[in-house]
Amino acid sequence: MITETTSQKAQAYYEQAEAMYVSLYGPNFHHGYWPRPDDGTTYEQALENLTGQIIDRVGAGPRDRVLDVGCGIGGPAIRLARTTGAHVVGISNVATQVEQATARAGAENLAGQARFEQADALEMPFPDDSFDAAIAIESLIHMDRDPALREIARVLRPGGVLVAADFCLNAVVTPERQRVLDRYRDLDSLSSFHRLDEFPPMLRRAGLEPVELLDASSHVEKSVKMWWERTEADLENLTDQYGKQELDDFIGLFDDVINHGGPEYLIFTARKPGGPSRN
Ligand code: SAH
Repeated sequence: MITETTSQKAQAYYEQAEAMYVSLYGPNFHHGYWPRPDDGTTYEQALENLTGQIIDRVGAGPRDRVLDVGCGIGGPAIRLARTTGAHVVGISNVATQVEQATARAGAENLAGQARFEQADALEMPFPDDSFDAAIAIESLIHMDRDPALREIARVLRPGGVLVAADFCLNAVVTPERQRVLDRYRDLDSLSSFHRLDEFPPMLRRAGLEPVELLDASSHVEKSVKMWWERTEADLENLTDQYGKQELDDFIGLFDDVINHGGPEYLIFTARKPGGPSRN
């Protein structure tokens, strides 16, 4: 089955690249968000800003149960639990991420409020209608969107919201950019890219009503330059761990994205119809 293949590929990718991710991102495995490109925001702050963009849109409170689909090592889920008082369940298909996220929640005395389990987002071990909200930060990028969104819609209660950060295509895809997109997809085990205007019908097909779709590309594009600088700064250590070929591949991709452009970056909110409104 295609979905299984995509899922397993992403799992193997994260298992193998984990140390590199921790070195590039800390506990937030995602792009940074700069309110304005040259506003002096540090990389660490920008990573937290992106998490903040998602958490603010969820608008969760202490009585809410929130699902984090593809939770990485737990940075966003733990912050959501700490700052909103909500109960958060994070899932990842990578066992070591779940272990690290669980340890981080324990270290922050949030074990009762943020828990993590290993599960496949395409087949989640939760009953229908069991969450008030869900977040998915750069995890849908690895999944076939239709079945993944259907599965999230299934576990959300009517009136519940999904807030996600995803890749999309919005600007013209030149042949050169298509080459970069293909390389990005292969190297990072991504699923297909979809045009921004495909998202509203895609969400509706899954049983979700689009609330907001924001092309946030201009806010996140500085991230690639940061990865490039971080990788260069830690090059010896990363080369020891991954080998020269792997590092050349990643740096080549970063160069390509800087020079020709990668996918656009979408932050979207969607709501499962029915039930009381949350926002
Ligand atoms: N949302 C986190 C991590 C983003 S990286 C953060 O922002 O910090 C993408 C995450 O999606 C990783 O944790 C990866 O293991 C997870 N993932 C990818 N495909 C998945 C699948 N099919 N099921 C569960 N998790 C998946």
